[in-house]
Amino acid sequence: MNILIVGAGLAGLSLARALFLRGIRADVVERRLDWTASGFGLFLPGNASRAFARLGLLPAITEAAEPIHRQDFYDQRGRHLGSIDAEAFWAGCGPCLGMPRAIMHAILRDSVADLPIRAGRTVAALRQVDGGCEVTFDDNSVATYDLVVGADGLFSTVRRLAVDPAPPTYTGNGSWRFFARNLPGIDAWTVMVGKGRTLLAEPVDRSTLYVYIERTQRAGDPLEFATGAELQALFADFGAPLGPLLEQLLPATPLHFSRIETVQPRTSVSGRVVLIGDAAHATSPSMAEGAGMACEDAILLADAIAAKDDLDAALDRYAARRKPRVEWVKAQSETRDRIRRLPTPISTRLLRYAGMAMYRRSYAPLLAEA
Ligand SMILES: Cc1cc2nc3c(=O)[nH]c(=O)nc-3n(C[C@H](O)[C@H](O)[C@H](O)COP(=O)(O)OP(=O)(O)OC[C@H]3O[C@@H](n4cnc5c(N)ncnc54)[C@H](O)[C@@H]3O)c2cc1C
Repeated sequence: MNILIVGAGLAGLSLARALFLRGIRADVVERRLDWTASGFGLFLPGNASRAFARLGLLPAITEAAEPIHRQDFYDQRGRHLGSIDAEAFWAGCGPCLGMPRAIMHAILRDSVADLPIRAGRTVAALRQVDGGCEVTFDDNSVATYDLVVGADGLFSTVRRLAVDPAPPTYTGNGSWRFFARNLPGIDAWTVMVGKGRTLLAEPVDRSTLYVYIERTQRAGDPLEFATGAELQALFADFGAPLGPLLEQLLPATPLHFSRIETVQPRTSVSGRVVLIGDAAHATSPSMAEGAGMACEDAILLADAIAAKDDLDAALDRYAARRKPRVEWVKAQSETRDRIRRLPTPISTRLLRYAGMAMYRRSYAPLLAEA
């Protein structure tokens, strides 16, 4: 079978690896030339590590990652609202882990090291033909594939050309990310919530924390280009354990801003074009399910491709199987976002008295295999 994967991010490389394990080599194109070392931190819940174990990559990932045994919740003044024993909750699946995204990406890339990836290349046009899809690349070369997989992320070109032209939707939240030294000795995934603002940190190695800051604001807000000093002022009322981390923000600290945007294409399969990962279902990161869902997509799609079966029927079954889980994660992420926007006394009371039960309820379906 002749397969093109567009995008060599977590979803595209996971699929290349899953196909490789089933004896299938795909062509991969990646738009960026410098695509290897980007991103900040990732939190991987147990279902994500279970999925990466299916790709044979868990030993390499656990060696590079920090185990996350606990998830702690605080209000912005530093009052403890509750904790989840993440290790116990996810015991049947796999470990929860914190790690730099760039390392995860490198592990995936190494796992398909002999697969040539055409970097600096993208697709310009897609045309469904009988039993396949004709692809025109941006250098005007043309090739026909049995299947084209759009693994090209939130702003997917494949989605726009072949499935749904609608652009992503802004959630109303902006985010900043950076790495900090773990001076406070944070040993858990830790979040602090205040009205419309979230401050989160997790260890990604012995001495480094990945810090994630989120704020409800309109698109184009001047604070999208906030300096470290402006963020410090914005979170001045946040106490220990995480508030003091912002003192580490220096003018030279690399600070990455992104609007949190989501997509909900009308379908993930259109003829011989399939979307996976963020291209198919980017959600707000509040469930930290992006990498895990991308890897689960990849494994189930590889199973569908490898089945000695009518490919169109196998793709339809793939889409039907993924739909309920994708919709669940999306709905739960939106609920979490809404709770964080409530007036502080209400959101903190909700988290204190119902938060841990809500956590268990929202993740419980993901304990089952995808
Ligand atoms: C602020 C934030 C925090 C997050 N935190 C977490 C977390 O803690 N845990 C977690 O699991 N997930 C998290 N996520 C989500 C996670 O990062 C994504 O779900 C995941 O990276 C999706 O992988 P992907 O391969 O689908 O997309 P991407 O990682 O975006 O990869 C897409 C690839 O396609 C390439 N590409 C794009 N367009 C084209 C084109 N036209 N042609 C060819 N190539 C193209 C890109 O260069 C890129 O290499 C977070 C997301 C955000 C925004």
